[in-house]
Amino acid sequence: MKKKSSKIYTYWVDIVGACNLRCPSCPRGNFTSDDVVEALPDAGLMTFEMFKDILHKIKEDGPSLNPQIHLYNWGEPLLHPEVAKFVEYALSQGMYCGISANLNIDGNLRDVVKAGPDFIRVSLSGFQQETYGQTHRRGNIERVKANMRKLRDYMTEFNKTIYIEVNYHVYKHNAAADLENMIEFCNELRFNISPVWAFYLPIEKNLELLKGNVSAEDQKLIDLYAIPPKRAMELALPHRKQYCPVRERATVINFNGTVPLCCNTYDKAHIVADSFLDISHDALQQAKHDNPLCGPCMDNGLHVFLAYEAGEIMDEEGNKVLKEIGSPLEIHQYTEPHVISREKGPLPILAKLEEQISTRKKIRGLRAWPHYLAAMVGKRSG
Ligand code: SF4
Ligand code: SF4
Repeated sequence: MKKKSSKIYTYWVDIVGACNLRCPSCPRGNFTSDDVVEALPDAGLMTFEMFKDILHKIKEDGPSLNPQIHLYNWGEPLLHPEVAKFVEYALSQGMYCGISANLNIDGNLRDVVKAGPDFIRVSLSGFQQETYGQTHRRGNIERVKANMRKLRDYMTEFNKTIYIEVNYHVYKHNAAADLENMIEFCNELRFNISPVWAFYLPIEKNLELLKGNVSAEDQKLIDLYAIPPKRAMELALPHRKQYCPVRERATVINFNGTVPLCCNTYDKAHIVADSFLDISHDALQQAKHDNPLCGPCMDNGLHVFLAYEAGEIMDEEGNKVLKEIGSPLEIHQYTEPHVISREKGPLPILAKLEEQISTRKKIRGLRAWPHYLAAMVGKRSG
């Protein structure tokens, strides 16, 4: 077994290669055959046998004593009929296990809660259907809210302490009453809620935008961002020399065992390994470094803002725009309090943070490895 460090390394194991929604900020919703360089990703479900082999390999060959296993990337994990078994197995191996769901379906939710993952993210973008349905296309917020209630009930039934984080994707159309109402709802359920600025994905689309290639449909979406992609790139540009956290400290494994360059790419052209099981960690890292897509991504600071690393300057920019459009709220993704009403002052968020509720030793290092990595993946499966 190779020598390991105590620094967290994250694996996004996309156990489902499909999603029930078509959110326009996500390639599941915005990537058309006109956008494809090589091919759209394959669709399917990971087998349990493959998952066991993957965790075994991570134990043998991974760089970290604290690997974190998240069962999603561009897929909805609750679509997998055996998702609870995957959670149970990861936990039985002593590994941190998280899932992120759009929570429009609840078929496996009770079993998942019973299995007791460390972390469940619910990603959404509004409190009313009229708002939510624009940016979580095909989703139904009333169903999501009903499933959030069930989530709390199942946690009570099985006496489970699971960190629940509601990832609220902030756009211009949902940064007012919808957000206030969702905070109240989360407070009632004692779920944490983190507002995050919504961004345009995948990387391929951002690079096309820079060349002036943008469809009318995508332009409509871009007009909804408080921080549109080109502005986000400008703000991130001074930091473009910094290393890419998702390349250095994370790996995505698709349902069929292939490995994409990172969690921000979608086209099959950017697969860097045909089989995670057959390539060493070091060779995989080398293949990522050799990939030509990282050059233009880093030259434009995309790797910085997509990892939420440009910091408070993003809050300043987003709030400037929200003020211009008359939003009564200020949003601070990077500092607390996260949401301030211009009239009423800070809006309290009552749930405890993960590090306050977890007794796991593995939780150490979460501060050093901030939530942005999980947060950035919250934009999908959500
Ligand atoms: S530099 Fe960009 S393309 Fe390369 S791994 Fe990082 S985010 Fe992905
Ligand atoms: S953002 Fe999440 S829920 Fe929406 S289409 Fe992408 S993977 Fe599905």
